[in-house]
Amino acid sequence: MAPMGRPLLNRRLAAFGTTIFAEMSALAVETGSINLGQGFPDSDGPEEVREAAVRALRDGRGNQYPPGPGVPELRTAVAEHQRRWYGLSYDPDREVLVTAGATEAIAASLLALLEPGDEVIALEPYYDSYAACIAMAGGTRVPVTLRPDVTGPRPAFRLDLDELRATVTDRTRLILLNTPHNPTGTVLTREELAAVAELAAERDLLVVTDEVYEHLVFGAEHTPLASFPGMRERTVTIGSAGKTFSFTGWKVGWVTGSPELVAAVRSAKQFLTYVSSGPFQYAVAEALRLPDSYFHTIREDLLTKRDLLAGGLADAGFTVFRPSGTYFITTDIRPLGETDGFAFCRALPERCGVVAIPNAVFYDHQDQGAPFVRFAFCKRESVLEEAATRLKSLAG
Ligand SMILES: *Cc1c(COP(=O)(O)O)cnc(C)c1O
Repeated sequence: MAPMGRPLLNRRLAAFGTTIFAEMSALAVETGSINLGQGFPDSDGPEEVREAAVRALRDGRGNQYPPGPGVPELRTAVAEHQRRWYGLSYDPDREVLVTAGATEAIAASLLALLEPGDEVIALEPYYDSYAACIAMAGGTRVPVTLRPDVTGPRPAFRLDLDELRATVTDRTRLILLNTPHNPTGTVLTREELAAVAELAAERDLLVVTDEVYEHLVFGAEHTPLASFPGMRERTVTIGSAGKTFSFTGWKVGWVTGSPELVAAVRSAKQFLTYVSSGPFQYAVAEALRLPDSYFHTIREDLLTKRDLLAGGLADAGFTVFRPSGTYFITTDIRPLGETDGFAFCRALPERCGVVAIPNAVFYDHQDQGAPFVRFAFCKRESVLEEAATRLKSLAG
């Protein structure tokens, strides 16, 4: 019996349960399946960056609490990165904050910027921590659903700008954006971003934009929302080393924005972790300064992997939404005679030894998400080839 006869987990979190990733990863181990569920690379990032972490650790840099906003070397490197790739200038001392991955940046931003009852518009399907963090901050989640469009030459999920506009109310405080978008692989176009920017200015909204896949784009261009006129002052931009450099275990992320926004986010962040990842911060500072060739190579490498897995999925009979960004492919299972992604994903390991994630876990509107299933392609080519072979048995 819980003390005072009350449930232990508070109402804000009770709805969330444990993540599907735990269930599916356990199933992968149990059945000896190839795990294309969770999105982590199966090979580590650049050797020289790993060595930089070892050097920092040996030299005693970052082994004790680093400065609250992050080590100056990393804040400077983040500012240089924003200038180098996007022409955006940020003051490393007042406009950059290092966080425990993008996950903490999201949590701290929402905890800092929301009052209970504020509405937050998020693109649906949404990254799973968004819903939980909005709830922990006492906000109200208002999803705008990306719609599958299979009429064009290339199936894709699209943002309906009219729907976005119609979703804003007097209670809307911020838009929580994510581009390149996990799990659909959609990269918002300049026109779409310009419309979001215009709406934010017109309705006086803040925007928190999760751009952790900024470098993982294929035949598309990533444009930070903060680069649009008037947006620098109302946008919190979130980045992370995990996806760009294939070190998801290091948990080094960052926030850039106006001094006022960064100070607000820091107010929440200081009481979450205070600081984290000391020696890794120095290594990530070096990683951000890698030559253009690194960024081109990782993109090329992932493009090959995307096409390998996309081809296998198409051969197996799925409708494939070939992503313009991220390392995920969303598929539609209806051509296989299936309609329930949950049931499909629970059966898939037994059927053919592959694990995937039902996109419905990223939806409030379960009916909208039901037939979609996500596969990760940040795996070695041999692994993806084997997965493609196994999946082909579904076509038979
Ligand atoms: C992986 C991911 C994150 C978390 O990034 P970390 O730096 O590992 O905390 C945040 N947002 C999206 C969309 C992601 O896919």
